Amino acid sequence: MASVPRIQLNDGHSIPQLGFGVFKVDPDETTRIVSDALEVGYRHIDTARIYGNEAGVGAAIAESGLQREELFITTKLWNDDHSRALDAFDASLERLGLDYVDLYLIHWPSPKDDRYVEAWQSLEQLRESGRARSIGVSNFLVGHLERLLAETDVVPAVDQIELHPAHQQPATTAFAEEHGIAIEAWSPLGQGKYPLFELPEVAGAAATHGKSPAQVVIRWHLQRGHIVFPKSNRRARMAENFDVFDFELSEAEMGAITALEREGRVGSHPDD
Ligand code: NAD
Repeated sequence: MASVPRIQLNDGHSIPQLGFGVFKVDPDETTRIVSDALEVGYRHIDTARIYGNEAGVGAAIAESGLQREELFITTKLWNDDHSRALDAFDASLERLGLDYVDLYLIHWPSPKDDRYVEAWQSLEQLRESGRARSIGVSNFLVGHLERLLAETDVVPAVDQIELHPAHQQPATTAFAEEHGIAIEAWSPLGQGKYPLFELPEVAGAAATHGKSPAQVVIRWHLQRGHIVFPKSNRRARMAENFDVFDFELSEAEMGAITALEREGRVGSHPDD
């Protein structure tokens, strides 16, 4: 089984660069799907309270027989919990059946509520307690990050943002790099909402390397240094998305895919 590279975080911990995401995975099917992912070889699972499937993730972990230290588990604080983050975290841990998570994120800044600084201070306490080994944010743009850096003590370990070839968020990634914040790319395949896989830059590289277009896009992320967790309910695709460590895109192939930027957001805007 391929060994997945780890990315060093700014707090001394490290994270497997390739994981498995469970957004829109039906709670009733989650245990089967995450069990498949663990059997395929994934050891990093990305869930969230709002996905409603933390309990299914926890059941798959319990059934797997894997040691807790072999796994990297992320969950997230939902917007309506910013003022009660400690309780929300306890509830997530209980649903997961774990006594710590590897990474806890503020899911969205939700600026209309203006409570993300308060939420972050609670996450700082959770990190201090060791029950969240690392803490980070998601969907934070430069302004939100600047405010955290100015008003709180701990620099987020990661920022999990929408990022795929059509939407690369150069301002946020540059700011994150400058401050030692690792980038997690959500919807790394653009959720299949635009014809990414048919584009000649992607399909051509796939043909050259004898790989699929999805594998080429995942490889592009890995070579850019992003942490990714593509989602699929199908075991064959989980295996395909994991089988990305036996080829390398050339500089020209990387450049051609990077040039596909078109501000093509598929999810919500963080300010909304
Ligand atoms: P994704 O980009 O991973 O796309 C998933 C879809 O791509 C699948 O449903 C399937 O239709 C298709 N697909 C997957 N593998 C394929 C393959 N090998 N060949 C062809 N098609 C394939 O989208 P996602 O699920 O939105 O993002 C991945 C993860 O990111 C989520 O599961 C979640 O963990 C995280 N996420 C976080 C946020 C956030 O706000 N923090 C938002 C969205 C997603």
